[in-house]
Amino acid sequence: MNSQEFLGHSQATEVLVVGGGIVGVCTALYLRRMGVEVTLVEKGSLASGSSHGNAGLLVPSHSIPLAEPAAIRQGLRWMFNPASPFYIKPRLDLDLAAWLWRFWRAATPQRVHAAIPVLRDLHMTSRTLYAELAAQGLDFSFAHRGRLLLCESQQGFADAISEAEEMEEAGIATQQLNPDECVRLLDGLPCQAVGGVFYPDDGHLDPARTVAAIGAAARAEGVQIIENAEVLDWRFEGDRIANVWTTRGQLQPREVVIASGAWTPALTSALGLAVPIQPAKGYSVTVAAPEDAPSVPFMLTEARVGVTPLPGPDGAQRIRFAGTLELAGMDFSINQRRVDALTAAVPRYLPTWNPSDFVVEEVWRGLRPCTPDGLPLLGRTRRWKNLVLAAGHAMIGVSLGAVTGQKAAQIVTGATTEPHDLRLLDPDRFA
Ligand SMILES: Cc1cc2nc3c(=O)[nH]c(=O)nc-3n(C[C@H](O)[C@H](O)[C@H](O)COP(=O)(O)OP(=O)(O)OC[C@H]3O[C@@H](n4cnc5c(N)ncnc54)[C@H](O)[C@@H]3O)c2cc1C
Repeated sequence: MNSQEFLGHSQATEVLVVGGGIVGVCTALYLRRMGVEVTLVEKGSLASGSSHGNAGLLVPSHSIPLAEPAAIRQGLRWMFNPASPFYIKPRLDLDLAAWLWRFWRAATPQRVHAAIPVLRDLHMTSRTLYAELAAQGLDFSFAHRGRLLLCESQQGFADAISEAEEMEEAGIATQQLNPDECVRLLDGLPCQAVGGVFYPDDGHLDPARTVAAIGAAARAEGVQIIENAEVLDWRFEGDRIANVWTTRGQLQPREVVIASGAWTPALTSALGLAVPIQPAKGYSVTVAAPEDAPSVPFMLTEARVGVTPLPGPDGAQRIRFAGTLELAGMDFSINQRRVDALTAAVPRYLPTWNPSDFVVEEVWRGLRPCTPDGLPLLGRTRRWKNLVLAAGHAMIGVSLGAVTGQKAAQIVTGATTEPHDLRLLDPDRFA
């Protein structure tokens, strides 16, 4: 069936995956490779959600969950300033109030320490899985070159070092660099920094091309991918989902995997599940790469802007600036002030790069699916015996995409998820 066909009145399938972002396509591919018949439905086109224009960073260095004590301290300073990297749109919203309360409760040193090894192991496995996919010939500009945090202030450098010490304790390699070493690492690009912290375990890829390549591989290996098919409603038999209504017809799946990112609460509320995912908007600006652009991704640390080199299949080099986190609901509007803020900080760190010289190729925004404790939801639900949730990956969904797909496939088929301990990711933990 091609992606434009109507499904007909009703079609049976072994596993239905809802959502064609990085998590959905990886789940479909790994399920197929375990011999399962899979149908994936996507309401738009593949990678039309958060998986398109993000920074594409694979980040074992982000093994500290978003809900942590420092985030509360920094967030309180920034939260109502519309020009800051973190912003909460003031409004009366009980779900948001409950989410913030849970975030505050989750941000304790004990909970953070329990989560770090779980995230570290998942990030590491995921990077290995992407390397395997790249070695199998999937072309998505995968590179394992590490990532540099470039710091312009003593305070920023001290904060970066203290986080690096925490990561070292958790077994993530880090290196402190002086300004000359930063310049060398950035292939000679002049920079104004008091120092930097390098994470050699990090990697990067082109996120949209990754979803496209994995989606194409899944299709070629027999996954039925139906785009422009939105899941609208569910029908049940006892404790099982029996029938799924979509805009392109009905499906009768034996198992369902929901991988619908920030849209998940809209789907799960009809299933009677409490899934506290808040959309957190972020922006990216992709420009033609200046001639002296480095091949290593880096972070303008104090400005909270990620900079990723993206070599295209056409040979053209691009640079993507990405950042900001805005809790404003399912709001896709583009705030030009925030877009401008992404590149405004560049000359402070890189004196030879002038934002007015940039040739902009794309301005993008996406909604990160954020849970209050900063950990994804991954596993079976108690309420529905044939439902697996794989959502809520916040700022690390690309990094964890491959491993989430592999684990979701193992959960669906009843295979072991070892050596990973997924108990902290229990999708019922907020029920
Ligand atoms: C600015 C920015 C920078 C980021 N940088 C990074 C980074 O460097 N590294 C990293 O790891 N992560 C990063 N992220 C986070 C990352 O983008 C997300 O965590 C990840 O893309 C989530 O993937 P997903 O598959 O869960 O969701 P999505 O990619 O949003 O996919 C969900 C899909 O489900 C579909 N869908 C929804 N409802 C339905 C329905 N009813 N029926 C059918 N289909 C439906 C949607 O159309 C969508 O395509 C960044 C995010 C932003 C915004």
